[in-house]
Amino acid sequence: MALIVHKYGGTSMGSTERIRNVAKRVAKWARAGHQIVVVPSAMSGETNRLLGLAKELAPGRATQAYHRELDMLASTGEQASSALLAIALQSEGMESVSYAGWQVPIRTDSSYTKARIESIEDQRVRADLAAGKVVIVTGFQGIDEQGHITTLGRGGSDTSAVAVAAAMKADECLIYTDVDGVYTTDPRVAPAARRLSTVSFEEMLEMASLGSKVLQIRSVEFAGKYKVPVRVLSSFTPWDIDINEEARSGTLITFEEDEKMEQAVVSGIAFNRDEAKISVLGVPDTPGVAYRILGPVADANIEVDVIIQNLSKDGKTDFSFTVHRNDYARTVDLLKEKIVPALGAQEVVGDTKICKVSIVGIGMRSHVGVASTMFRTLSEEGINIQMISTSEIKTSVVIDEKYLELAVRSLHTAFGLDKPAE
Ligand code: ADP
Ligand code: ASP
Ligand code: MG
Repeated sequence: MALIVHKYGGTSMGSTERIRNVAKRVAKWARAGHQIVVVPSAMSGETNRLLGLAKELAPGRATQAYHRELDMLASTGEQASSALLAIALQSEGMESVSYAGWQVPIRTDSSYTKARIESIEDQRVRADLAAGKVVIVTGFQGIDEQGHITTLGRGGSDTSAVAVAAAMKADECLIYTDVDGVYTTDPRVAPAARRLSTVSFEEMLEMASLGSKVLQIRSVEFAGKYKVPVRVLSSFTPWDIDINEEARSGTLITFEEDEKMEQAVVSGIAFNRDEAKISVLGVPDTPGVAYRILGPVADANIEVDVIIQNLSKDGKTDFSFTVHRNDYARTVDLLKEKIVPALGAQEVVGDTKICKVSIVGIGMRSHVGVASTMFRTLSEEGINIQMISTSEIKTSVVIDEKYLELAVRSLHTAFGLDKPAE
């Protein structure tokens, strides 16, 4: 008997018919003698619908009080899907009970809309499992010290599931989604993408942090910190497929150094459409410029990603960086009102129609010329690179958003990632 956490994403929970299918699959695992905790997402579209209603009532609002209510609101999506799944399991003849985050409780800090899990108490869940029940724990949400409901950021149910698995020392965490594993890149963008049967923890961490939304970054961090075996697999296989076959399907995140002889240099391509670029032009080039621009940005709790400073000419330089698109207007206002006048810079310009494309692979550590192959491939397609950022196992470029698909597909081919033609 094993203790296994199942997580089902929004599409997998998208209708009562799909919820029934999830219930049948879960019941199959429980009847095979396993203890099962299920972490569901809200039904697909529900979180967007709820947040859209709030936006209608208060466009552009960004206060703490508002963010508190957003969490109160968005958390209802998971509460509903969890109760529906418990009902579906009961009607399959399985004893089942669902808990909201605060009932477990899953304790978080108080950063509404992007809270971090601090601890999980598992006594209640364990008692129900021991009594033979399937326990359902809402994804995406928790409770802070003052008793306010919090949510974990978009895609946060992945993190709930891995955190529950870590806290309960589960044997495995199965992330059921609408694709049958982790691919070399998003198969919706590059149909030639190939499923990986394993992916190293480090590569998964990079892919997630660079925008592959198949797993939320924090879930990968939890998996690494607590060594939780995580497998990504499809919820769209027939629910009654052989359980051993199902248990081996999808993509497993591995923690050992891969000993494959022919480790691919680049294992995957990630992209991110959520960033915007901002440039401060004509900045007097004196020591401390980066700090005087980015210090106040950081103080305003705005995360900065790629940064470049140009060579100075006539004592002036240009300084560019990217932020999340949601923070774009706020950052430009801050620069215009406070930073540019204080620095004596010329002007601020920005572009929201950019994207970041990254190649990822632990093989890049031991190979030279990988970045130059990337730059050559993009230049052959006539794609202009606006910014570059590198680390040991990734190279990212910022390009015009309209070239996203072309860039991803041509890099996918250039690095030999396409699946063999059928
Ligand atoms: P869920 O609702 O199950 O959490 P998500 O939509 O959050 O599902 O994540 C699954 C989606 O992630 C896939 O449908 C796919 O389009 C996208 N995706 C992005 N990059 C990858 C990748 N490298 N491998 C697989 N899927 C990816
Ligand atoms: N329902 C939340 C979202 O849409 C959490 C999740 O699906 O993981 O972001
Ligand atoms: Mg997701």
